[in-house]
Amino acid sequence: TADPTSDDDRDVVVCVRLRPVLSAESERGIFPTVTANKDTGKVLVHSLEYKFDGRPKVASKEFCVDYAFDSDTNNEEVYAHTAKKLIAIALGGGVATLLATGQTGSGKTHTMTAVENFIARDLFEAALDYRKNLNDATAWDSSSDLGFEFRVCFFELLGNKAYDLLAYPNEITIMEDVLGQVQVKGTVEEQVRNSEDLLSPQASSRSHAVCRITIKDLRYPASEEGLLYLLDLAGSESSSDSRHHDKERTDEKKEINQSLATLKDCIRNRALAVLSTKHVHVPYRNSRLTVLLKSAFELATTRACRTVVIATVNPSILDTLHSLNTLRYVSPLKVE
Ligand code: ADP
Ligand code: MG
Repeated sequence: TADPTSDDDRDVVVCVRLRPVLSAESERGIFPTVTANKDTGKVLVHSLEYKFDGRPKVASKEFCVDYAFDSDTNNEEVYAHTAKKLIAIALGGGVATLLATGQTGSGKTHTMTAVENFIARDLFEAALDYRKNLNDATAWDSSSDLGFEFRVCFFELLGNKAYDLLAYPNEITIMEDVLGQVQVKGTVEEQVRNSEDLLSPQASSRSHAVCRITIKDLRYPASEEGLLYLLDLAGSESSSDSRHHDKERTDEKKEINQSLATLKDCIRNRALAVLSTKHVHVPYRNSRLTVLLKSAFELATTRACRTVVIATVNPSILDTLHSLNTLRYVSPLKVE
């Protein structure tokens, strides 16, 4: 595997994870057309092309990302190279974001659920370690046994609306105030006492599911709170593919496509802005998802910040076009 320390100062880390062809699929004769190489970060999509003389020839398209996890890679390994590195950033008062994107059925929720479990485990472990290493046990609010306060909220962005996932009735608002600060209003924010409290409720695969963990270091009450955003994005398959042709669903699909396209521009332009001395416009206002993430990305100018994108891919031959779309979507996010 590529040197895990080599990207430690990178703002944006891009990975692709192939899921295995499931046994029910291989029983139907479905085989994979996508391969990934962990050592090189390269992903290949193979297809048959017919030459002028009518003879078939295998053609391969190549994409390059920071980490390319093949279908044998387990959750813990994916975690170790991706989200694990976000924990120190968030505990240190920085802003960390983990995004899973890909078509429905490609493994976004499978990956995010596992990763959230590891994050929950390691956040509490790190907090306890941190406390153990402190001499001055009176420096923080003794009502907390951790030295940190963790608060969590879960919500989803569905079409033009946002809903809390813990409370009902649950429509919430996400907007910028006059100072340009992003406000999420109406969410139930719960204090987390143990790692189980951090486990996400299930959201629709047509919505962007957001888990936001806010971390306060109780020893330094005046310091900035750390933020960890975990996003399981809506399925990226295009609207033409939808079997649902009613207007509501079509509008919803349009909103998903628009928000994913804007997200890509925002991640890329922000990465370019960090590298450049020139002004680069980041079009946060083009979607609700990016208005939300503006708070995370803008803080990057003053605080430690990292974004990890995991694109999940179903390597089945039936999904080759979707896989190409996903790979075309994420590979430009890798900014050298
Ligand atoms: P998505 O959230 O992208 O729609 P899911 O996470 O629900 O996709 O995955 C679709 C199916 O594939 C589920 O049955 C899931 O258990 C299985 N799956 C996904 N990724 C993996 C993986 N890495 N290993 C084994 N099974 C997987
Ligand atoms: Mg899902």
